[in-house]
Amino acid sequence: QHPELDRLLQAYELTSKMYHFLLKNTEHGKPAMEYLRSRGFSDKIIDQFQIGYAPNRWDTIVQFLEKRSFDPVEMEKGGLISPRHEGDGYVDRFRDRIMFPIWNRNGKIIAFAGRILGEGQPKYLNSPETKLFNKSRTLYNLHHAKTSIRKLRQSVLFEGYGDVISAWEAGVQNGVAAMGTALTEHHATMLKGLCDEVIICYDGDRAGQAAALKNFPLLENAGLHVKVALISDGMDPDDFIRQYGGERFQRQIIESAVSTVKFKLIYLKKNHILQEEEGRIAYSREALNVIAPLSSPTEREVYLREVSAEVKVDFETLKQECNILRQSLQ
Ligand code: ATP
Ligand code: MN
Ligand code: MN
Ligand code: MN
Repeated sequence: QHPELDRLLQAYELTSKMYHFLLKNTEHGKPAMEYLRSRGFSDKIIDQFQIGYAPNRWDTIVQFLEKRSFDPVEMEKGGLISPRHEGDGYVDRFRDRIMFPIWNRNGKIIAFAGRILGEGQPKYLNSPETKLFNKSRTLYNLHHAKTSIRKLRQSVLFEGYGDVISAWEAGVQNGVAAMGTALTEHHATMLKGLCDEVIICYDGDRAGQAAALKNFPLLENAGLHVKVALISDGMDPDDFIRQYGGERFQRQIIESAVSTVKFKLIYLKKNHILQEEEGRIAYSREALNVIAPLSSPTEREVYLREVSAEVKVDFETLKQECNILRQSLQ
């Protein structure tokens, strides 16, 4: 029906196979393979996720596609090659990068994410948006994960491709990630079509925690129940799994995910010194702002009791303040 789209899909499929072959079987691919090994990627995972290598040359894919009579204009629009800055002709878009194919939910490759070997900028270079690839409607690994997501009625949302891959190897096979861009309503709707609950498992740094917080309303408005997995500061899920193993990741991170309210309280608490009176007062105030709007009296009581212990203020006192605040909200 759409011959040019079919052709582009074909080009992505072949290019991905080529990158994968170059990684596994050639001299060019050796440093990339060593890099992947040093990060703990197994052969099995490299195959399952069809990880590849784009060599440090200008025309590997240009020539590869030309030999197979792909129209260069279409291939450029499709994001596989770029026009030369000077003169006619084209150059490869991805050079000297580890290549992660990105699949649509039907398992067709529609884009790539290319990671630099080691340090450097940009760390990840993604395919541009094309007729096939709409970032705001694509979730990495959804084609693999959808069976598990449906079965468990739950999905785990990661920040990075490496996190999804490590978690998969660790037995968490309901993991997906957005495309290095913000999560969208489309993503939330896609997940809601498959499950009821999302565990956000973002990086343990400030940026990751802030991004998690930002996504609560988006996911909740789509009708999803949201929980948050807490990763030690300075680590991401991939780091954690490499350091402590998959079993501990499942138990200590995924199964110990907390409610969004609990997460907000933990997040706010970090800004205050609870050994000091002013810190305890300021934290109580912020905590009450989170707790007071909760509609369930039980829920309010559970969290108020926790805060009461943390700030060493009588439960009844906090409850009183909470009720005053509630009235002012109505
Ligand atoms: P790695 O473990 O390989 O260093 P990461 O996934 O932990 O990568 P982060 O820096 O935590 O990388 O970023 C999370 C995600 O954000 C990445 O997986 C990628 O999707 C996206 N991202 C990061 N840096 C860039 C960039 N420069 N350009 C585009 N996307 C990026
Ligand atoms: Mn990060
Ligand atoms: Mn990360
Ligand atoms: Mn990482």
